Order: sequence, then structure tokens, then C-alpha cells
Amino acid sequence: MRAAVWEPGSPLRVESIPIPVPHAGEALVQVSACGVCHTDLHVMKGEVAFPAPAVLGHEISGRVVEIGLGTTPEQVPAGIELGERVVGAFIMPCGTCRRCLAGRDDLCEPFFEQNRRRGVLFDGSSRLARADGSPLAMYSMAGLAEYCVIPLTALAPLPHDLPEFESAVLGCAGLTSFGAVHRAAGVREGDTVAVIGVGGIGLSIVQLARAAGAGMVVAVDLDDSKLQTALDLGATHAVNSLTAGDPVPVVRESSGGGVDVAFEAIGTPTTLQQAVGMLAEGGRAVAVGIAAGDAAASIPITPLVRRAQSIVGSFGARTRSDLPEVVRLAREGSLSVTDTVTRSYDLDHVATAFDDLAARAINGRAIVRMR
Ligand code: NAD
Repeated sequence: MRAAVWEPGSPLRVESIPIPVPHAGEALVQVSACGVCHTDLHVMKGEVAFPAPAVLGHEISGRVVEIGLGTTPEQVPAGIELGERVVGAFIMPCGTCRRCLAGRDDLCEPFFEQNRRRGVLFDGSSRLARADGSPLAMYSMAGLAEYCVIPLTALAPLPHDLPEFESAVLGCAGLTSFGAVHRAAGVREGDTVAVIGVGGIGLSIVQLARAAGAGMVVAVDLDDSKLQTALDLGATHAVNSLTAGDPVPVVRESSGGGVDVAFEAIGTPTTLQQAVGMLAEGGRAVAVGIAAGDAAASIPITPLVRRAQSIVGSFGARTRSDLPEVVRLAREGSLSVTDTVTRSYDLDHVATAFDDLAARAINGRAIVRMR
């Protein structure tokens, strides 16, 4: 199969490598499309540590073509069958650790220890290797390839009324936004909301916050065309940080003294500080953006205490319960994958896709189509 292999210091290269073989509890998926997420770019730029060489790509749609030998019926989620269309989530829970048993797939210990630190699956080995046998690390399921092996816990069926390619973004942009809006922020009817950074993740947060009942949604970005897309998809106000300078007073004023929830979907100290600065009394700042290395933000303590505000991190969501819910929300039109995805590239142009993302030239989300 063809796969995009990443090695530090060189552009992504499409190589021919053996099709991986799934083990018990895993599926082989013929990938239709894989989303172009900024987290992969963080890895490529060395801002997030990850072993190399590796195949990145962590939100996919595709078709199940094989289920690992020795898989028990209990390991197969409802609706997952050979030949069926699926979406795959970037958080691939083991299903058996204490966090998973408590339903907290987003905190699965073996996932972070094995996959995020070492680039392997739960048995400590990668399913990917070059033709010479040298192993390739897997970032989540390593979706920037024609086929991928993924634990069955990370799959949800993709109904036929959702598009085969664009639905790839449900596995990260959709899941992450769901976790931020419903699990971390608990957006309620009538809440006022700000979303700082309306790229692939922020644009999905805008849509799900509106669907959750937010009355006012202020989109904040540096780019007018991205702000326009956010307005088209449900934001009620837009603030350009480049032209407005500091967006905090603008958001505070237009929301009548601060917002109930501010989502930070970029990952810089300045924008996290802005999110906290935008909060009303009792407001919640939700940190979604991933920052480079050990970047730290400085938060004034006493106002946070006096105003009973909170800052909470949000990573993905609870895959096994929330991914089917994200698919349901996409189906009912609360999250439009076709509006979120504005560009697609073929696998041969995968390096250009990430160059364009780095140049902030992608409005919403891009996908890489495998055929
Ligand atoms: P993206 O590049 O598509 O979007 C980033 C947006 O922020 C762009 O629209 C850009 O114009 C805007 N922006 C950049 N600097 C800005 C500034 N100073 N002020 C206002 N707007 C600014 O990225 P993405 O794929 O949406 O990812 C966003 C962040 O979320 C990344 O850090 C990514 O790693 C992280 N992420 C987190 C999770 C999670 O589970 N927490 C999951 C996926 C991605």
C-alpha cells in the first residue's frame, strides 16, 4: 500500500509499504480519507514529541476489510461488520484499564503510554513496517495511508446518508468539539460563548455550541475568510484579532461583560490568557489547543478566584460513547462535515496539504483522499 511517511527534517514522503495485519480486537480499514489536523503539524514541527519514522494521520473514514483473528464477538461494537463504512477516532481506548472501565476513554492509560509515547498499539508493537522489516511508528491508527489497523474500540459505523470522504473529520474535529462543548464546558441553553481560533476544530465547536443552545457565539480569528465561514456556520459575531488588536475588550463589550464559556482552539499562551480574560463571572475557559513543548500561560490569580471562574483542559472525548453521538449529530445536521471540509488533496499531494495548513491557507478542514 502507499503511506505518507514522516521523518524529522524532511517533507512527508509517500512510500510503498506492506499492508498491515490486524490482531485480535483490531480491524483493517481501507481508508477513504484522512483529515489534515494541526496536531500532526505540531508533530512534524517537533512541537509535540513523537518517535520517527512514523505514519501520522488520526481521523479517518473507510471500510472494514478484515477483523483480526481471535477477536471475540464482545469486542466488536454494534454495527461494525466486514465491508461496512466506518469512521475512526484518534483516541483509541484499550477498554480495560481503570479509566476505560470508568468510561473515561479520553484518559486511557495504555493509549497514552503505548500509542502517544511510543507509537505502538497495546501489545507494545507497531503494525507498520517498511518492506525491509524496519518498524514505523503509528500516530493513532496512522491514517495517512491506503489501509490502517485500528482497535475496534475506536470505530463507529458511518451511515449511508453521510458522505464517505468528508466524514473523516468526525474522528478528531467532531469528537474533540463534542468533548469540549458537552463534556468540558457543558454548554447550556442561552450561554454566551467565544471561540478563539476557528480552524478545523474551532469551526466544529462553533456548530456544536450553537446546536447545544448557545445564544451568542463570538468567533475570534486572524483571518476574515475564516471568520466569514464561522458566521455562515452559526457564529453570531466575529472579531478579527489582527484588526481589533486585543480581542478581549471587544468580546467583553459585545457580550455585556464577558462570556459564559471561552474555547481556546489554537494553543498559545496569549490566546489562553485571552480566553480567561473574556470570561464573565462564573465563566469557564476550555483549553483545546495543544501548545509547543512546555509553553506556559500566566493567569492573574485573584480575579479568577473572586469571579469563581474555571479553566479546564479538554482532550478528544469518550470515544466509545461519544463517537456514535458525534455521528448522530452530523446526521441530524448539527455538524456539517461538507461545510467544514473546504479542500481535498490526493495522497501524492499530502505534503502540500500540510504546507498549506502551516501557511494558514486552509479555511475549515482539509482532507486527504486515498483514491
Ligand atoms: P487550524 O490550523 O485548522 O486552526 C487554527 C486557527 O487558529 C486558524 O483558523 C488560524 O487562523 C487561527 N489562529 C492562529 N493564531 C491565532 C491568533 N493568535 N488569534 C486568533 N486566531 C488565530 O488548527 P486545528 O486543526 O483546528 O487545531 C487547533 C488546535 O487544536 C491545535 O493546537 C491542535 O493541535 C489542537 N487539537 C486539540 C485536540 C484536543 O483533543 N484537545 C484535538 C485536535 C487538535
